[in-house]
Amino acid sequence: MKFIKSVKFRLTAWYLIVILVLLGVFSASGYLLLSRNLHRSLDNALTVRAAELRTTFSIEQGHAIFAAQPTDLILIYNSQGDLFQRFGPSVELPGMEGAVQQALQGQDVFLTMKAAVGQEFRLYAIPFVPDPRSRLAIILGRSTSEIETVLDTFRYVLGVSGLTAILLAAFGGLFLATRVLKPVDRITRAAQEIGEHDLTRRIDVHGEDELGRLAGTLNGMIGRLEAAFERQRQFTADASHELRTPLAIMQAESTLALSKERSEAEYRKALELISQEISYMTAIIGKLLFLARSDAGKEPLTFERTNLKDLLTELAADIDVLARDKDLKFTLGAMEDLSVKGDSVKLRQLFLNIMQNAVRYTPNGGSIFASLTGKNGMAEVSITDTGIGIAPEHLPHLFERFYRVDKARSRAEGGAGLGLAIAKYIAGVHGGRIDVSSEAGKGSTFSVYLPLENSK
Ligand code: ADP
Repeated sequence: MKFIKSVKFRLTAWYLIVILVLLGVFSASGYLLLSRNLHRSLDNALTVRAAELRTTFSIEQGHAIFAAQPTDLILIYNSQGDLFQRFGPSVELPGMEGAVQQALQGQDVFLTMKAAVGQEFRLYAIPFVPDPRSRLAIILGRSTSEIETVLDTFRYVLGVSGLTAILLAAFGGLFLATRVLKPVDRITRAAQEIGEHDLTRRIDVHGEDELGRLAGTLNGMIGRLEAAFERQRQFTADASHELRTPLAIMQAESTLALSKERSEAEYRKALELISQEISYMTAIIGKLLFLARSDAGKEPLTFERTNLKDLLTELAADIDVLARDKDLKFTLGAMEDLSVKGDSVKLRQLFLNIMQNAVRYTPNGGSIFASLTGKNGMAEVSITDTGIGIAPEHLPHLFERFYRVDKARSRAEGGAGLGLAIAKYIAGVHGGRIDVSSEAGKGSTFSVYLPLENSK
């Protein structure tokens, strides 16, 4: 049943059907052509023979005389339609009257008759007028057995060669189908063997044909799955690690505080530290949730007309407070009145993450500069700081999840390496991008590009 449903079987079956139809058509037309030609040659031979007879035949004293004794079947009928003389093999041919009458009336007639013994004869009835007063009918006949023998042999040859051709076609078709479809079996087996934990494996089918391309496509898909699984695994490992650190700190702090009687000030200090770690954890969990929901496409987005100038001016007031805390100079530069179609809460989050970083990674006394300009249908928000900068080798990884240039420093500043990943995601869903240029020790510039509303 499984074999019958297989492509291999169906390919072979179709192949056989086509061969059968072709063989049938060619054999039938070959046979018909041969049979017609053989019968036509016999008729021609009879016609030639009849013409010969007409010239070599005479009636003398009521008897037919031939120049040479004929060996063919010759029946001579008188004008009354009675057989009065015959030559050649003695066979009984019933029902000749019609042909005899037609010949007596002057017509040539061809007919095929079966003799009483079963042999078939081709007959040619012709009129013969020896003198104006008498009229005869001569019937010339030849057995068709030679034709039958040739046709029988031809049928036999056709049958044997047809059967051989069909058998060869069946085996050949099956062999070809098996050979052509072998890579499919290999692809199926490989795909069955590749599990969630074995994504490093690839399907070993090469070539420029359709199956080679299919294997290539599947390998590409497995590669993407592998990368996605790896990212997921890395993300889970990083997230667990990131959450374990504050938990360990809280555990150590509470164990220490409880190890003996402490003063109120000491308990307060311990609780403050624990509270700080809880805030840190809450922030990370919030960011993780955001990323997880975004990955699943479940983070709701409300796109509406958002004035970037208003949004940035508002945000600048909050950042200014943070900046002043660190004795940083925060300046707003050109602020063009530009709007984009976007989710204002998410866009605020994007700029907040970048500006917070600028504050975080700029040492006391430095300065931060933000501007908003429009160019080529895009709004460009630039945030420049005179901070610690980023070495070129870190730039390509900056937007990866949990990537931090200096883990200890970032952690001390309250960062978990998720802020830029979130910023990149938000820019992406708005059809925009973020560029960074930075020089270690001098400062960085983050440029956010967003398509302007009605810019298309
Ligand atoms: P974090 O929460 O740790 O700040 P981000 O994803 O926001 O994580 O940033 C990733 C890393 O990029 C940071 O840890 C930091 O090393 C580097 N970085 C980001 N912004 C700046 C900046 N303005 N100046 C210098 N380094 C920066």
